[in-house]
Amino acid sequence: MKDWSILYRGSLSSCNYDCDYCPFGKTKNTRAELTEDAKALRKFVDWVASQKAKIGMLFTPWGEALIRKYYQEALTELSHLPQVRKVAIQTNLSCSTAWMAQVNKATFALWTTYHPTQISREKFLQRCRALDELQISYSVGVVGFKEEIEEIKALRAALPSHIYLWINAYKRVPNYYTTRDIAQLKAIDPLFQYNLQYHPSLGKSCKTGESVFTVDGNGEAQRCHFIKQRIGNIYEKDFEKHLYRRSCSAKECGCHIGYVHLEELRLYEVFGEGVLERIPRV
Ligand code: SF4
Ligand code: SF4
Repeated sequence: MKDWSILYRGSLSSCNYDCDYCPFGKTKNTRAELTEDAKALRKFVDWVASQKAKIGMLFTPWGEALIRKYYQEALTELSHLPQVRKVAIQTNLSCSTAWMAQVNKATFALWTTYHPTQISREKFLQRCRALDELQISYSVGVVGFKEEIEEIKALRAALPSHIYLWINAYKRVPNYYTTRDIAQLKAIDPLFQYNLQYHPSLGKSCKTGESVFTVDGNGEAQRCHFIKQRIGNIYEKDFEKHLYRRSCSAKECGCHIGYVHLEELRLYEVFGEGVLERIPRV
């Protein structure tokens, strides 16, 4: 049976947080824009429900989607579909968690990010405890700003040991980290080394374009978020013919949601079923 991993990013572009490094901080959508996004999401859910392939999904919104009821409802519905093996979403975890009592715990997962400038550690940890009580699978992550290393250590110490804490390296500034910073961050996230670099990828084998692809609100598909080349539209009858093995056409790949599919890194062996929500096997 075919097995696809889909990264969905609709037209939503707004966030209730205001991280100063992020273009979506405190941006708003109009009611008409949200209605359009909800309509597109409904169409996508119906499409998934009509597929024969096994499907895993990661929602990678531009901003925060889980504060919107229509995303909560769509993810809940998707989690119960027989062909869905995983439905995960990137979130700042600012939403209520009560609705998650209705999801299928076997397929639903969260990729959460802690933003220490926007929420206290204690409040974030309270939300994590609520997820634990509901038996929701989740990873927790942070951007590895140097001035927050002590805060990241404190978060690691406070999280249950089975919860993976990933750290995204701050790579916008060359040579940002000292050797000591790197050692400290690696001690917290054993996989930090993978994120610290841009992986040379040109001509290399990557699962995207074949078993992994991105979809936008109009159904337009690309192999990954980083190569801005249309491969087809999922709402066209012959879409599957556009899915085939192809090598990477970009010089390098520096984001988990991309390089995790780069075959030579063999990260599927590390993450297993948790590739999309970023939860390693051990
Ligand atoms: S929570 Fe995420 S999307 Fe929102 S402002 Fe911060 S980094 Fe941007
Ligand atoms: S290696 Fe990265 S940039 Fe290249 S195709 Fe795969 S996901 Fe896209």
